[in-house]
Amino acid sequence: MARRKKIYEGKAKILYEGPEPGTIVQYFKDDATAFNAEKKDVIEGKGVLNNLLSEFFMNGLNQIGVPTHFIRRINMREQLVRNCEIIPLEIIVRNYAAGSLSKRLGIEEGTQLPRPIVEYCYKDDALGDPLVSEEHIAAFGWASQQDMDDVLSLALRVNDFLSGVMLAVGIRLVDFKIEIGRIYEGDFMRLIVADEISPDSCRLWDIETGQKLDKDVFRRDLGSLTDAYSEVARRLGVMPKTSQVTKPTLIN
Ligand code: UDP
Repeated sequence: MARRKKIYEGKAKILYEGPEPGTIVQYFKDDATAFNAEKKDVIEGKGVLNNLLSEFFMNGLNQIGVPTHFIRRINMREQLVRNCEIIPLEIIVRNYAAGSLSKRLGIEEGTQLPRPIVEYCYKDDALGDPLVSEEHIAAFGWASQQDMDDVLSLALRVNDFLSGVMLAVGIRLVDFKIEIGRIYEGDFMRLIVADEISPDSCRLWDIETGQKLDKDVFRRDLGSLTDAYSEVARRLGVMPKTSQVTKPTLIN
């Protein structure tokens, strides 16, 4: 295979130059990190599961007219996506209290929120991705008011879609994080959902038992992360064959 030029290596993914201009190859690693990379491990098969699950969610969004960066899956660990200019914000949507919201406001985990709450964090690992307001976003020029109107509407559409898909397989979508990017088409710019949508970036609880099926299993040492993600994949009908989960493909 031809050597691909690495553009960027993050905590869970590597980005390579794509085969055509404006495209990128996203490679999903098995690395798991939490608490701003203070806790680290390699979880065999996580990359394969997240690649397939992100494909499933992004494809669904594309089909209902929510634009995403996803073009096609290349193999068990890689997908081809559109290159976009990422807005430096983590966009968090919450339906039930959990994690940092529970801690910050003293609301018991699992409490249903009166309506979905959208929060923004400034993407900066060195600062620990601090929570910011729209005032900060406007003042520092991270996104325009028009961008933020579109970001909010995209975030809520993604929330409705994911909540419904999960509900259909007995899973509660507690909260999730997305990233949004800009693409330029001639004189026009539009926003698309980028990065990934996977159990690494969502909180997913079994509706009947409350069992956690997301990265909190790793963060809080609650058992096997692969088992939890496999359960989500199995329910959604995107479970890979066992051999494909355990054998990472060598790239470069
Ligand atoms: N999240 C994420 N990446 C981050 C921070 C949060 O994917 O850097 C996701 C997280 O998995 C959860 C949601 O965003 O689904 C809300 O996370 P929260 O603010 O509660 O942070 P945490 O408790 O994970 O620190």
